[in-house]
Amino acid sequence: MNSDNQSFKSSLNEDEIFLSDKQIETVDGANSIHNFDFELIGEYFSNIGRQGPGGYDQTIKALNFVDGLSAHSKIADLGCGTGAQTMILAQYTSAHIVALDLFPLFIEKLRSRVESIGIGNRIETIVGSMDDLPFTDNEFDLIWSEGAIYNIGYQRGLKEWRKYLKDGGYLVVSEASWFTDKRPAEIELFWNDAYSEMDTISRKVNQMESAGYIPMAVFALPEYCWMDNYYIPQIKAQGVFLQKYAGNATAMDLVNEMRRETELYTRYKQYYGYVFYIGKKL
Ligand code: SAH
Repeated sequence: MNSDNQSFKSSLNEDEIFLSDKQIETVDGANSIHNFDFELIGEYFSNIGRQGPGGYDQTIKALNFVDGLSAHSKIADLGCGTGAQTMILAQYTSAHIVALDLFPLFIEKLRSRVESIGIGNRIETIVGSMDDLPFTDNEFDLIWSEGAIYNIGYQRGLKEWRKYLKDGGYLVVSEASWFTDKRPAEIELFWNDAYSEMDTISRKVNQMESAGYIPMAVFALPEYCWMDNYYIPQIKAQGVFLQKYAGNATAMDLVNEMRRETELYTRYKQYYGYVFYIGKKL
């Protein structure tokens, strides 16, 4: 899901979300797709515990760089998915959390997860888009976005979300980044096509600074956050999914795309990864 930004842009209409151009064409030869397919792809990703690379310990590590949260604080979790990180934010802070995602099915799952452990009253859920946020200026002490800011682009997100933070509030995002300044052509092409803002850590830190934040910390996610926490759980889910939707071209394309992304990661993981960027509003 993370590499597929071209298809996952909020500028597309809902029916097109998650689909690469290739997948969209496969469905009906034009740039549109039926509701069923939108739901199908949502179903695929809702069957895994998280919709992007990440990990329990890494969320806590990033949270430890954020000072001053209390029961009076407000946190926004943008592109929350089914809530892997929302649950941790709720467990490790006493703040009020607003969790927002474009995908209703993900929000439903998150809702039932938080209700089942009795913390539903502290978590407000919104089906909405990160490029049209229903927030007021200076509303939040912390804006969190794991593996999701790419949907509107890192620089745009940094710029547009800043106003919703109180002075001294924090922005914590994780984002695919290059580990080296030069890469083999195959992986360079794949990512440049998938996400035009893929860049080195040092440039992303500079961009954070230019957008009006003090860069407080940066760290890369270890490999298991991709393999064990994201790609490997998909292998089992893919089998079940393909059986259920045997003969469905969208289902096949989606699984093939994810398999290719996994294979490329296995071959080229020394060149890129997910990185947490923690900034404080100036
Ligand atoms: N934070 C979650 C999900 C990351 S995947 C995790 O780490 O597991 C990216 C998420 O962004 C998906 O849940 C997707 O539905 C959501 N998304 C995509 N476009 C969006 C938009 N325009 N506004 C809000 N959420 C969006």
